[in-house]
Amino acid sequence: MRMFLNGKWVDREETRDVVDPANGTVIDTVPEATADDMRAAITAAKAAFEANHPFPAHRRIEILRGAADQVASRHEEFSRIIAREGVKTIREARKEVTRCIETLRVSSEEARRITGETVPFDQSPGAENRFGFYTRVPVGVVGAITPFNDPLNLVAHKVGPAIAAGNAVIVKPHEETPLSALLLAEALETAGLPAGLLQVITGAGAVVGDALVTDPRVRTLSFSGGRETGEKILGRAGMKKVGMELGSIAPVIVMADAKLDEAVASSVSGAYWAAGQNCLHVQRLLLHEDIYDEFIKRFVEATEMYTVGDKQDEDTDMGPLITEDVAKRVEAWVQEAVDAGARLLTGGERNGSFYQPTLLDRVPDECAVAAKEVFGPVTVVWPFRDLDDALDKANEVDFGLQGAIFTTDLGTAFRAVEGLRCGGVMVNDSTDYRIDAMPFGGMKGSGLGREGVKFALEEMTEIKLACFNL
Ligand code: NAD
Repeated sequence: MRMFLNGKWVDREETRDVVDPANGTVIDTVPEATADDMRAAITAAKAAFEANHPFPAHRRIEILRGAADQVASRHEEFSRIIAREGVKTIREARKEVTRCIETLRVSSEEARRITGETVPFDQSPGAENRFGFYTRVPVGVVGAITPFNDPLNLVAHKVGPAIAAGNAVIVKPHEETPLSALLLAEALETAGLPAGLLQVITGAGAVVGDALVTDPRVRTLSFSGGRETGEKILGRAGMKKVGMELGSIAPVIVMADAKLDEAVASSVSGAYWAAGQNCLHVQRLLLHEDIYDEFIKRFVEATEMYTVGDKQDEDTDMGPLITEDVAKRVEAWVQEAVDAGARLLTGGERNGSFYQPTLLDRVPDECAVAAKEVFGPVTVVWPFRDLDDALDKANEVDFGLQGAIFTTDLGTAFRAVEGLRCGGVMVNDSTDYRIDAMPFGGMKGSGLGREGVKFALEEMTEIKLACFNL
């Protein structure tokens, strides 16, 4: 595919292959953009913003709704692309497309709710005859840098609110999965978005991504990706608002009074969704000692029912890792834990870029699978005696995106909500639960700011105050 620069679909002599991670087959190519291309995109974005500002809310609503309808009318085509360039099975990909439609619709609805408040100036002696209010205005140019694991909906989570607020937005999609973002740009173009208000520039993160990060004309930068990249970007962004949606090592606590069938089914799904390449991946499973053996037995049985393989096959449950090198890294981490005395309860085998769903226990704390984000289909279990122990274990890592607890006791649930140092706590769902309109983001090393359309809108607008001396 071509990239989308200043309202035109353009080629470049130098291209990058887009491959199917299952087998390395080249499925398409995209331009290998340069830093100059990105600077041209920023110039075009600024000009398009100025030319269209103020962009009326009814037009933004109409365009976002139209784009949602476009994606809906091409649902299967979008799903197939996600399941080819990315790691998801076709069933997982279809869910992502449905969520992308929802994200665009929520964005269209939030566009009509960008309001302000009056300010009671008379609280200050001498200001009795002042009257004022504030509104939220678009920041101008938004930069969006996205990861490979949700190549469509995480782009929609940045593009939707950016357009809803009346900004111009430039997307730098992940190198491995640019096609889904380009399809989304087609949908917005067809829906009537004026040229230059959305651009998708393909290429290397360290080149075109960096040109976007460091340019002072970009007023808000919205990043989803790994913590290491995030910290690098924070050091280079300069004077702009920065939203950081980073990774985690998500904990799920299962109490002795939990409904075990539900807890097992939900935790297995959360452990292996997108082959564990998910910021909400259930990596730490903390089981009350009374149900430890029974839970593990059921979890292993459910895991061993998983079909791993052809992503396009309706019956496949889990696809590959994004590259064979990543699968080798996951294999090495599991081996390190086993060498250090961990017990391999199921899985532990690699075949090319595929890695079997894997459960480990007795993992020493210093092993990588216990201490770092694995971003693969590996889960580690620990027993605990009481809730305080479980909360301490859940909170010991320097991440805090979402946490979860399974319990039938309301008091226990509330104690967990209060005690987990996470941006979101799920009660009787695994950490891998999200709807697109809820506030979403992390505490500690999991990020800065929140997404979820309404919340992203705050990052993509700024407050303007007006004061009248009557
Ligand atoms: P990554 O950090 O490798 O890449 C993310 C993006 O950053 C890519 O588009 C890449 O090209 C770009 N990039 C790389 N170097 C750059 C640089 N120097 N300057 C500017 N841009 C640069 O992450 P990934 O492997 O795609 O994604 C996995 C990570 O993302 C995991 O840690 C996962 O938990 C996290 N994630 C978080 C969320 C969330 O909403 N919190 C969602 C999905 C993924």
